[in-house]
Amino acid sequence: MEGSPIDLPVLKAYVLHEFPDVLDIHDVHIWQISQRFNCLTAHIRIKPEAVGDYAALVLRINASLRQKFDIGHTNFQPEWVSLR
Ligand SMILES: [Zn+2]
Repeated sequence: MEGSPIDLPVLKAYVLHEFPDVLDIHDVHIWQISQRFNCLTAHIRIKPEAVGDYAALVLRINASLRQKFDIGHTNFQPEWVSLR
């Protein structure tokens, strides 16, 4: 059974507010592994001019999510071209 103790709209709003280089975050899935350890997968659309700093951006997002939401592991799929 899948449980998500973290409020997804709150998490999305937090990421968009804290990281202006992230234009959108979607397909977010969170698994609670233990009481203080969560895993997250998500797609993030980032500003094209931020692509060169993508690795550093992800490190900052990871640190932020760990501190704020007890998310100890993430897996992001980056997107920087709108195909729609
Ligand atoms: Zn996507």
